[in-house]
Amino acid sequence: SLLDELTGIPNRRAFDQAFAERVREAARDGKPISALMIDVDLFKTFNDTRGHPEGDIALKAVARLLAGALRRPADFIARYGGEEFIALLPNAPLDGAQVVARRMNRAIHDALLEYDHGIDGRVTVSIGVATAMAADAGDLVRHADQALYVAKSTGRNRYVAIGDAEVAVAG
Ligand code: GH3
Ligand code: MG
Ligand code: MG
Repeated sequence: SLLDELTGIPNRRAFDQAFAERVREAARDGKPISALMIDVDLFKTFNDTRGHPEGDIALKAVARLLAGALRRPADFIARYGGEEFIALLPNAPLDGAQVVARRMNRAIHDALLEYDHGIDGRVTVSIGVATAMAADAGDLVRHADQALYVAKSTGRNRYVAIGDAEVAVAG
C-alpha cells in the first residue's frame, strides 16, 4: 500500500517513488526542487501526558493541515514516519519553498490544537527546507533534515532553509 493507515496521506514508500519521479522530471526540465522535512514539536510529552489515542487524533489533524498548505498539483506530501512528514515541491526555488514552510507553520499554529506543554500552549511544528537543482538532488533529504535540526535547536515552531550558500531562519 502507498497510503499511511492513520492519516490517509501517502506513506514513505509512496514518497520514495514520488521523489524518484519528480526529481527525474525536474532534472529533465532543468528546474530546482525543494524538500520540507516537518516534525511535530515536543510530541513525546504530548503522548506521555495526553495518551496515545489523543496523539493519533492530533497527528491526523496535523497531516490534514499540512496537506492543505500545498497549492500546486505537482506538490507532494507524505508521512515519513512517526510524527515526521515530508513535502516535495518540484520547480520551487528556495524562496518559494519558504513561502510554503511559513504557511505550514502558521496553519498549525493558527489551528490552536491545545497542548499545555507545547509552545504557546498548542501543537507546533519545526521545518527544515532544502533546495537543489534537480540534477543534483542526491543530498536533498539529508539537507532538509540538517535544516530541521537547526530549527529544533534554535527554538522550534519555525523553519530553517538551506540553499546554495544561503541560510534563512524565521519563526
Ligand atoms: P522534538 O520537538 O525534538 O521533535 O521532540 P519530540 O518529543 O517530538 O521528539 P521524539 O522523537 O523524542 O518523540 C517523538 C514522539 O512521537 C514519540 C512518540 O511518543 C510519538 N509518536 C510517534 N509516532 C506516533 C504515532 O503514530 N502515534 C502517536 N500517538 N504518537 C507517535
Ligand atoms: Mg521526530
Ligand atoms: Mg518531534
